[in-house]
Amino acid sequence: MKLLVTGGCGFIGSAVVHRAIRLGWSVVNVDKLTYAGNLQSVAAAAQSGCYAFEKADICHAGAMKRVFHLHDPDAVMHLAAETHVDRSIDDPRRFVETNVLGTCILLQAALRHFSSLGPERRDKFRFMHISTDEVYGALGLEGRFSEKTSYAPRSPYAASKAGSDHLVRAWGETFGLPVLVTNCSNNYGPRQFPEKLIPLVILRAIAGEPIPVYGAGENIRDWLYVEDHAEALTEVLTRGSPGESYNIGGECEARNIDLVRLICAILNDMRPAGAPYGRLITMTVDRPGHDFRYAIDPGKTCAAFGWRPRHNLEEGLRATVKWYLENEAWWLPLMQRGDFGKRRGLRQ
Ligand code: NAD
Repeated sequence: MKLLVTGGCGFIGSAVVHRAIRLGWSVVNVDKLTYAGNLQSVAAAAQSGCYAFEKADICHAGAMKRVFHLHDPDAVMHLAAETHVDRSIDDPRRFVETNVLGTCILLQAALRHFSSLGPERRDKFRFMHISTDEVYGALGLEGRFSEKTSYAPRSPYAASKAGSDHLVRAWGETFGLPVLVTNCSNNYGPRQFPEKLIPLVILRAIAGEPIPVYGAGENIRDWLYVEDHAEALTEVLTRGSPGESYNIGGECEARNIDLVRLICAILNDMRPAGAPYGRLITMTVDRPGHDFRYAIDPGKTCAAFGWRPRHNLEEGLRATVKWYLENEAWWLPLMQRGDFGKRRGLRQ
């Protein structure tokens, strides 16, 4: 199996690259290296002998054509995207360009490649698109998202991902490209860029700085450990039915404030300081249009593949805290960048 991964220097993409190599596949990683991409995240894969890296932008049609021609992949896992909701409020256009236009350009390059394959390789070829539960909008206290839930995105990020999901399905229906779509809940784990909630809390706490929590901290998210997500993704890629979408979730719902308190409790245990870390929690201005609750029903994916998340929230958080405590060389340079830590996404 030769797998083309886009966004493999990002958080989930790097977990996918590592898992694919453990499975004995060869990997071509196509990444533009935006602020969120980090070559350190795939340094171990680069030593493996079955890995190639292409620094390229999915919005560049010529570059994508060249990558498919040069590497001749058997499957694509498309993770490259702009992903931070707060940044999508400040600069929506960038999200439309990368997530919608970039996906269209990648689909065209994949289709051209697919059409050039012989019948046997064509039967096995897959284009897999990795998306989010945020396309379904927000829930109240009850209910969960299934694959049949209507799309109702509420942020520019979610809307751009919804647009890309629709394009992928259209390339399946109209052009016969064998596509798969996955929609996943919030991920956490090693190598997540520290502007996202969980690494931000860990790193602010150990620096003894205020730990920001938006609004009243009542918003609820369904958390999945990134390696469990990567395992689900390779199952869907190899065993999923073309044209189908699959929801992936951790069945670990938590209010943001409870999540932050749990991280503080784990840090009290793993790196005790003079006083409990919880004293640093600081309520801040809420995100505009902040979705109240997301919750995924992963029943279809579990039934189809026998997949289950291996980590509950506390186990996954302990593993995550441990990784950040042991990998300062990965995160410190990111935090020393000029505009790191700036509050984003406050409507003008
Ligand atoms: P990330 O922000 O950590 O990484 C994104 C990667 O894409 C980076 O390496 C970046 O350099 C690369 N990239 C961005 N624009 C590019 C372009 N134009 N061309 C090539 N590469 C480009 O993202 P992540 O959190 O790992 O998310 C990966 C995918 O999973 C995204 O599509 C996201 O929508 C989806 N997703 C994420 C979560 C989550 O909780 N993080 C949950 C569900 C779905």
